[in-house]
Amino acid sequence: MKKGLILCVCQGTCPSFHKMDVFEVLNKVRRDKLVNFVSLHPQLCADDGDQYLKLLLANKDIDKIYVAGCDPAMQKKMYKDAMKEAGFDPENHKGVDIRNMSTDEAFDSIRKIINE
Ligand code: SF4
Repeated sequence: MKKGLILCVCQGTCPSFHKMDVFEVLNKVRRDKLVNFVSLHPQLCADDGDQYLKLLLANKDIDKIYVAGCDPAMQKKMYKDAMKEAGFDPENHKGVDIRNMSTDEAFDSIRKIINE
């Protein structure tokens, strides 16, 4: 089972992501081998974010995708069409809200949802 994590950071300009070092969050996830791959996207809810999700999730080797960023309920609404077009079951997407967290807090939240 292949699983991946995408960190989405509101273009890097949103203050909600300024308390953390987003690269260190990803490095911690890599070091602990929590997923098979990690990536960073500036704005998954934009048109090119849809394209990114469609291209990525058309890969049938990917069974589960975690997105750390904004509210998980909002994520579900924003990504579901792209996931369906890619033939990826939206139930296999888990979102985690990491806004306004420090690097360690964001990492702990991500680890928790992956280990659920
Ligand atoms: S998907 Fe969420 S975290 Fe990503 S850019 Fe849009 S609002 Fe921000």
